[in-house]
Parts: sequence; C-alpha cells; structure tokens
Amino acid sequence: HKYVYDFNEGNKDLKDLLGGKGANLAEMTNLGLPVPPGFTITTEACKEYLATGQEPEGLAAQIEAHLESLERGMGRKLGDPDDPLLVSVRSGAKFSMPGMMDTVLNVGLNDRSVAGLSRQAGGNDRFAWDSYRRLVQMFGKTVCDVPGEEFEHALDDAKRAKGTTNDLDLDADDMRGLVDTFKKIFSKHTGREFPQEPREQLDLAIRAVFESWNAERAVVYRRQERIPADLGTAVNVVAMVFGNLGPDSGTGVAFTRDPASGSQGIYGDYLANAQGEDVVAGIRNTVPLQELERLDKKSYDELLGYMARLEEHYKDLCDIEFTIERGKLWMLQTRVGKRTAAAAFVIAGQLVDEGLIDVDEALHRVNGAQLAQLMFPRFRLDHEFQPVAKGIAASPGAAVGKVVFDAGRAVELANQGEQVILVRRETNPDDLPGMVAAQGILTSRGGKTSHAAVVARGMGKTCVCGAHELDVDVQQRKFTVGGQTVNEGDVVSIDGTSGNIYLGEVPVMPSEVVQYFEGTLDPAQADDVLVKAVHRIMSHADATRRLAVRANADTGDDAARARRFGAQGIGLCRTEHMFLGDRRELVERLILAGTEEEQEAALAALLPSQRGDFKEIFREMDGLPVTVRLIDPPLHEFLPPLEQLAVKVAIAQERGEDAAKEEALLAAVRRMHEQNPMLGLRGVRLGLVIPGLFAMQVRAIVEAAVECARNGVVAKPEIMVPLVGAVQELETVRAEAEKIIAEVVGDSGVEVLIGTMIEVPRAAVTAGQIAEAAQFFSFGTNDLTQMGWGFSRDDVEQAFFNRYLQLGIFGVSPFESIDAEGIGRLVRIAAEEGRAARPELKLGICGEHGGDPDSVHFFHEVGLDYVSCSPFRIPVARLEAGRAAV
Ligand code: ADP
Ligand code: MG
Ligand code: MG
Repeated sequence: HKYVYDFNEGNKDLKDLLGGKGANLAEMTNLGLPVPPGFTITTEACKEYLATGQEPEGLAAQIEAHLESLERGMGRKLGDPDDPLLVSVRSGAKFSMPGMMDTVLNVGLNDRSVAGLSRQAGGNDRFAWDSYRRLVQMFGKTVCDVPGEEFEHALDDAKRAKGTTNDLDLDADDMRGLVDTFKKIFSKHTGREFPQEPREQLDLAIRAVFESWNAERAVVYRRQERIPADLGTAVNVVAMVFGNLGPDSGTGVAFTRDPASGSQGIYGDYLANAQGEDVVAGIRNTVPLQELERLDKKSYDELLGYMARLEEHYKDLCDIEFTIERGKLWMLQTRVGKRTAAAAFVIAGQLVDEGLIDVDEALHRVNGAQLAQLMFPRFRLDHEFQPVAKGIAASPGAAVGKVVFDAGRAVELANQGEQVILVRRETNPDDLPGMVAAQGILTSRGGKTSHAAVVARGMGKTCVCGAHELDVDVQQRKFTVGGQTVNEGDVVSIDGTSGNIYLGEVPVMPSEVVQYFEGTLDPAQADDVLVKAVHRIMSHADATRRLAVRANADTGDDAARARRFGAQGIGLCRTEHMFLGDRRELVERLILAGTEEEQEAALAALLPSQRGDFKEIFREMDGLPVTVRLIDPPLHEFLPPLEQLAVKVAIAQERGEDAAKEEALLAAVRRMHEQNPMLGLRGVRLGLVIPGLFAMQVRAIVEAAVECARNGVVAKPEIMVPLVGAVQELETVRAEAEKIIAEVVGDSGVEVLIGTMIEVPRAAVTAGQIAEAAQFFSFGTNDLTQMGWGFSRDDVEQAFFNRYLQLGIFGVSPFESIDAEGIGRLVRIAAEEGRAARPELKLGICGEHGGDPDSVHFFHEVGLDYVSCSPFRIPVARLEAGRAAV
C-alpha cells in the first residue's frame, strides 16, 4: 500500500489523500515553480494511526526510501554533523485549518549538526543557533506538550537582559544560551533530554502531526466550520529553506487579490530575516509586500510572475507563502484563498469579466451563508462618534459588545446572552472558543494574515487587528488608547470594513445588499462594486433555478417585505397570531361556551377580524399564491397559565369577590391540560373536535379573497390543514370546507386549493392515499423531524445535542439542516407516492429548513416545486436554489 508520495507524484486533485497543502505543493512542483523538494504522507496513514495507535505496516520503510531519495537529491543527509539536511514536518488536511494543527521546522538539528549548519551558512553562528532554539521550542511545544509560554518568557528574559525588544538584537551567544535554557525547560517537562537523533526527531514530529488532528482546538474548529471529523491530516516533509539568514533573506505571504474586498492589486506582508511562523504569529510587525520591490526587485518580479501564473491556473484568488533565502525565492504553499463574503461576490464577478470562468461557475463560487453575512447591518456613517483608533480592517461587519480579554470570559458572558468583543494583543489557537463566542475580535498586533485575521475571516466574524495605538494589558483586564482606559465590561464598537474602533455603542444601519433587495438601491446606479456583483449573480440564480421561493409570513407587512425580497408567494401563513392580543377574550369565550349558540356567537365575533387580516395579506400578494394554515397550536395556549389563574381565583375568593369567570377558566385549563401538548389536541384534531372552528377560518379566508377579487386584486388562497396523519381526517375537513367555498365563491372567479401539511410520519408513508384528497402537500419539516426522530424540538438541543454532535451521530442538528437519509427519506417517499396518485400535486416545504442552504439543495434534488422560508432568508434560498440547478 502506498502511503508516501513524492511532490512530483501528486497533483491538486488529490486533496483527499494528500491534504490541501500536499496536493498544491505537488501541483506547484509540476508547474515548474521553485518548491523545495519533499514528500507527503497520506491522510490514510494518519487515519490508520489514529484508529490503531500505531504507524501502519510498511510506512516506516516508505518514509526511509523517500527520505533517502530526498537526501540524494539535496546532496545532504538528515542531521549530518558536517553538512546537515534539515526538514520541516508540516500538517495539512483536506480543508485548510489555519494554525489549528502543528508544524515543526528545522528538524535534524542537534548539538553537532548545529555547527555544520553554521558552516553551510558561511560561518553564521547566530543563524544556526537561532534555528536550533526554534527547533527545541517548536518541537517541545507541539510534539511534547511543553507549555509554550515558558519558552516565550525565557526569550523575553533574554531580550530584557540585553535591553531590547527585538529578537534581531540577540547575537549568537545569546541564542546558544537560549538553546541551553530551552533544553532545560524541555527536560523539566518531559523528563528526558531533547532528542539528538535526527530520525527520532522526524518520527516523533510525524506522529505529533497525526495526533494534532484530534487536538481540542482542531475539534472545536471543525465543528464550527462543519468539517467532517474523520478525514485525518496528511504530513508534508519538506527540505528547509531559510529566511533567517540575514537581511537579504525573509519570508512572507501574498494574495493575488485583496481577500477582504476582492479588489485587484498586490496584497501581502513581508518580514525580512525571519522564518515563516513569525509572520503568521504576528510576533514582529511586517511590511507591506510592495516594499519587497525596493528590497529585492528580482525576487519581487519573480513572485509577481508566479502569482499571475497561479491565478491563471487555479482560476481563482490564491494565497501564497514564500521564503527568500539569500535572494533566491522559494514557494512554500499555495491554495485557493479564504476570503470575506463581499470579496467572494466581487471576485466571482471579476473572474467572469476576465473570461476566466463562466457565470454558472461564478454561482458556484459564492454561497448562501456568505450572502446572509452581507445582509448584516453596518455602522451608520453619519453618527457623531469619532473613532479612538484605527486598526487593520481584517474581516468586515459591525460588531458592538462588552470588552473581554480572554477566551474563558468571552464564553462565560456569551452564555449569559451578552455580546462581547474579544480583545487580545494577538490571538493564538487557544483563543478559538472565545473567538467563536465573541461578536468581534480586536487585536493590537499582527497584520491581515495574522491568526486573528485569518480565523475571523473564515468564520465570518468581524475583526480589526494590528491596532497599535491600543495598549492591551490582559493581566489587568484593560486597555488604554489615546489616554483613556477601557476596562473589562465597557462597551466598544469595531468596524471590520474600515478598521475603526469606537468607544461606546455606535448605531447600525442596514447593509447595502439589503437596500438592494429592498429595491431602494438600484444596481445600475450604484457605484458599489459589491451590489453590482450581487445583482449579477442573483439574476443568474433566478434565471437558472427550478425551485420557486415563497415566504413564511403572517402579516401584511411581512408579506410586503417578502415580496420585495423576491418571494413568489406565501408558503406558510400561520393564523395563530390572529387569536392573540385583544382577541384572546374571544378565544376564551369560545372555550367556555356552554351552548351551541354561545359557541357560534364567539366564532362569529372572531370572523371579521380574521377576514381583515387575510385581506391585507392577499392585497400585498396580489397575483401570487398564499397558503394559509388553519389553526395549529393547542387552544389552551391562548389561555392564561394555570398558576396565574389559580392565584387570581384564590385571592378573589379570600376577598369574597365574584370570580365565576376565572373559576370557569381555571376549570377549563385543568380540563384541557395535556402531558404532551405537542402530541395532543392540535392541528386537524382541533378542527374535528371543536365544531365550527375551521369552518369559520375557511369562511374568513374565502370571503377575504372574494372581496379582494371584487376590488381587482387577484387572490389565490391555498387552504392548508395541519397535522394530518390519515386521509380520513383530511376528507372530513375538506368536505365541510368545500361546501363553504362553493357557497362563498359564487361567480367571483376565485379559485381555492385545499391541501395538507405532511409533518406526521404516518402521513408521509400514506401519502399516496392522502394525495387523493389533497391538491398540494407542504412538508412541515420541523414537526416531521421532531416526530420522525422522537426529539422534542424545544428541549433536546439544550439537553444533549452537543454530545450527539461530539459523538458524530449527526454532523449538524437535524433541525438546522434536513437529515437527508432519515427524515429526507420520508419526504422523498411522500413526494413520489403523492405524485404517483395525483400527477399535478403541488409540492412545497415550509419548515425552517426552507432557508437552509444544504436543505435547499436536497429539496431541489427530490423535485419539490418550491421552498418557503422567513422573509430575510429569501435571497439565500434564491441563490442556493440557483446553485443547486447549475
Ligand atoms: P500552517 O499550515 O500553519 O501555515 P505551515 O506548515 O505552512 O503551517 O508552516 C508554518 C510556517 O513555516 C509557514 O510560514 C511556512 O511557510 C514555514 N515553513 C514550512 N516549511 C518550511 C520549509 N521547508 N522551509 C522554510 N519555511 C517553512
Ligand atoms: Mg502555511
Ligand atoms: Mg407543524
């Protein structure tokens, strides 16, 4: 079995096997770019190691063979005391997980080969000992779990002793001293000497990379990003090149376009005389990549040439890691780069203009989650607030919250429902839980490619980084800026689009993209490149998609907004709210009615207000279908809570007051109490048990439609019966409704459909029968999930879903994204059998899943006619329906 691939054996399409980094290193090698030679150990080897706790059979020998060939090619042997080959051992999973897993540089250095390395570098002792101390530090921290701060403190001490804050001021002797100190720290924590045998270093580092797949922070990151837990990571062993050889060396990162805005240009950071990890960690301040032109024009031009080449080849924004060793450029990594939501749309549009991709492909390059992000509000620019400082705009958005200084506190306050801003000097992977919990992230150090920036962009979190004016004191839980002190709990506002930082709460306004959807911003007029790009891609999605998109809307206002957002009708109009407010009184009368006359009178009193509600909605939806769901929740939900009533009654009795009505209500509440209300008297069951209730609603709907029709409005009511489990239930309701419809419609020309929700599993598996009585089905996937899994929607997420997610029973809550194999199977069966019985049957879905990207793709695939979702999700559903169709 082949576990090891040389860089010239792989290619970019082998990401499953070689991980993203390995596959792209191979691709660049084959393109003839200057990549240091090396090889990749496959994700399969990792998975076997993680499953058994042992390297798979044959792996050691294959590594040996590839190492030998690497040594032959380089003319050096790993760790050779006279002329050592050094390598880096780099993790690289299929999906990029920035800073989540481990990399060890300078493997092969020891007490003897350090001298050989110095000789290779022309007697540069400082360089050799700096490289060695980095090895002990990285190896100690990532392979042997030595607390990283101890090394950092020792380094700080050395700098302090020298009266400097810059590591470049430390000389060879200082570095030698640090190696000594680092080795002592190493043995104190591990109980052994720092390993001197190069091959042992290599094997332990490889094993550590395997194990880093299951490190806590990697697990958290995967959950957040929905990356499957069982992919494993590949390991890349790469010949070292050195950016820390002096001022003519250095290391940097580059983007082929701006990952924040999508603008074309040259974006990146460069750090002279440094090794790669210094840039990402934001340890020293970098210079903009353009500076490199001045420092080393030859390497700069060469780099720009490769960047253009890579963009052309990958037909997308690429990010790049490179190192210059004494004027020689080396490419160390590339990948299709992460970008903000705005940049994703802008770049997709540009690439179409440039002829690199077509519009279908552009549609694939963006997604609904990104669109949703662009719909978040932004700060109002006309406010009187002045920024106190400006950092680097690393990840857009407007975030307001209480300042916290560590991840633990961020999580704690967020759990209490507080909005927090995590403030750090710089972040590292241990801060991840806090970054997830925070509204936004603010750092005083590091550039656009610092850990904070990269991770925030990936998560769609607002981030301002490198705000040098902030003096952050994590210990004292405060920062100072412009003479002011901001303590933990004080509110700040950060603008990830401009980099501005404000004290206090800045008011926010809707995004331009929302204004565009609202129709108040004309894309032809706007000089906003983002709005133009969104418009172009949305138009293509609308032209391409087969699924219609409707809205869940209960009021005229909701309906109007939904329509502006592109709704093609209402898929779910709930009628519950029509029984609330001052209408509660009427519901009480209905429930307490002692005689048929009293009941009829109560219903008759409810009718006009309901009719009024429907008229408003039909008017807004003129010409489009409106699905109205007859009343669904148990009636006692409309009564006051038991305890409240009991107290009222007791007080009245004590005072000798007349409490006849309260007593009657109390008796009713007691009588109607159910152990499992969600499985109780609700939906169609109410209609069958309480005479006249559904009839009143049907009459109100049809009368409203007829009145609208008389006024020139085209009303298309679709009456939907909830919670049907058997065709007989539907038939009974339908027979009664049809009588009323026939009577009310008259010659108005109004057409009324009658259909049902499919939300009880029994309905799904008897859909063929039910379709005989239904003109449409609308899948109520919330209840279908609840009843299909037997999960109480209101309780389980709190109670145990975290554990279920941990165990991988599902990758995401089935209430969020449709469980395609289980609940989805019920949908598929019902759709097929329903259509077989009635070919013209209309099929839709109106659960929360209607606005969930993955679910939309599923509903497209099973052949539904439309999805229905909340007004704000409509653009997302339109986009995803388009993506599903290309
Ligand atoms: P990450 O996935 O966290 O970016 P990498 O494996 O890319 O980790 O390595 C961390 C840093 O070390 C990067 O800046 C990278 O460019 C640098 N690096 C990795 N391998 C080498 C090498 N062989 N020579 C020089 N620098 C290297
Ligand atoms: Mg990297
Ligand atoms: Mg339901």
